[in-house]
Amino acid sequence: MALVRERRQVNLRLPELSDRRPRFPLPLPPNSTSTGIINNNSSTSTISCNDIEKLHVLGHGNGGTVYKVRHKRNSQIYALKVVHGDSDPLVRRQIYREIEILRRTDSPNIVKCHGVYEKPSGDIAITMEYMDLGTLDSLLQKYGTFNETKLSNVARQVLNGLSYLHAQKIIHRDIKPSNLLVNKAMEVKIADFGVSKIMHRTLDACNSYVGTCAYMSPERFDPDTYGANYNGYAADIWSLGLILLELYLGHFPFLPPGQRPDWATLMCAICFGDPPSLPEGASEEFRDFIQCCLQKESGKRWTAAQLLSHPFVCNAPRSDLVDL
Ligand code: ATP
Ligand code: MG
Repeated sequence: MALVRERRQVNLRLPELSDRRPRFPLPLPPNSTSTGIINNNSSTSTISCNDIEKLHVLGHGNGGTVYKVRHKRNSQIYALKVVHGDSDPLVRRQIYREIEILRRTDSPNIVKCHGVYEKPSGDIAITMEYMDLGTLDSLLQKYGTFNETKLSNVARQVLNGLSYLHAQKIIHRDIKPSNLLVNKAMEVKIADFGVSKIMHRTLDACNSYVGTCAYMSPERFDPDTYGANYNGYAADIWSLGLILLELYLGHFPFLPPGQRPDWATLMCAICFGDPPSLPEGASEEFRDFIQCCLQKESGKRWTAAQLLSHPFVCNAPRSDLVDL
């Protein structure tokens, strides 16, 4: 019965935007001027969309394809995310939301947007900085688990990005390994703002069912039990704690290695189980940091700003994230 009650409470709809068209001019991210703007309909353009050539596909996401592209004249490499004109209106709304957020943000730990354009066919393309080591997900597959020093460097950078976003009243809502990008300078940057939310009022409700449910916090499944003082920002912190644990263990922490999560198993594990913790051998600082992130009651979780001063993050030496 309890299970039935919990499932009924989950809102499976994605949030609606009031209109389908962007509520801002598409072409001009504010911080793009140094590297040029790709835009096929503005006289301020320094790069035309005809100036870039696609090299290959980097990946497919929910409704869009990301390409590695090169500027034909100066050989600069970018990542180009394309959402097709005939795609689901929901997907188009998500990309408009992503563009709005990318336009507002300027942080070393948030992927930079260099331009946006809409083709006559209706395709929408976002040009982003190219992150040449891929995602934390792909690094885990390729190089194996991360030690504590590497993880504290990942944590510091993601927290830096999250504290910036949260200070701007933006909740990411889909923090997961494939949305955290890495480059050879060992910078980690938050990407993919399709399901993010800009909080317009401090008490905005923010419990819609969006993002990947594997990294969702207990209060996203069950706001009544775990969401006292729910502010939404704490859900991003839960996701970060889970990711760090996954990178340390080498598998999704709520499930045994190799098991594919389904919705019901995840919901039971996250809402009714104890939060996962570190095995023996992990340092006290790391253990405490994970506990500060993985509190089931959202109000007990530390904020991004508080976690930036946690000893696990601020006492650790800087290090490379992979041994190239
Ligand atoms: P989802 O739709 O669930 O978020 P996803 O995160 O894999 O899935 P996208 O965010 O669309 O989907 O990205 C697809 C893939 O493209 C990513 O997993 C990543 O490998 C690659 N990618 C995205 N942006 C960049 C970038 N700026 N630089 C390098 N690679 C990127
Ligand atoms: Mg993504």
